[in-house]
Amino acid sequence: MFDDLRDLYQEVILDHGKKPRNFRCPENATCLAHGNNPICGDTLVIYITLDGDERITDAAFQGEGCAISVASASMMTEILKGKTRAEAKTLFEGFHDMCTKDDFDVSQLAGCDEDAIERLVMLSGVKEFPIRVKCATLAWHTMQAAVEGDEEISTE
Ligand code: ZN
Repeated sequence: MFDDLRDLYQEVILDHGKKPRNFRCPENATCLAHGNNPICGDTLVIYITLDGDERITDAAFQGEGCAISVASASMMTEILKGKTRAEAKTLFEGFHDMCTKDDFDVSQLAGCDEDAIERLVMLSGVKEFPIRVKCATLAWHTMQAAVEGDEEISTE
């Protein structure tokens, strides 16, 4: 990756870490889940509002965690609005593979929102720091649990 691109990515992530978007508890949320990453001490609650059980009309979070976990949750809530459950699952799986697999092929996400893919690629820079991968993916694991009706998840 070019150094200036890497700097830009870090700037975006730090900005979300410092000023998280959608950091609130929506009154009309239809599902929520608690996520816990004991290795780092990150604890998040993800709130999802589904319209007719299919489209995500609102996503928000609360909790405490390191800059990476908070930035990832913040960026995720922005990405999820307007997506269907199926799209959210595809993005979650793509992001997970991006962070953990050496042979990840971005064409796996063909047809997905390009802006969302770009943000996920930024965050997947944590791949170089394996201990941070759980921080970055915690919000996504928790979101997936929320829409599937599981209230508690732990990365352990
Ligand atoms: Zn963390």
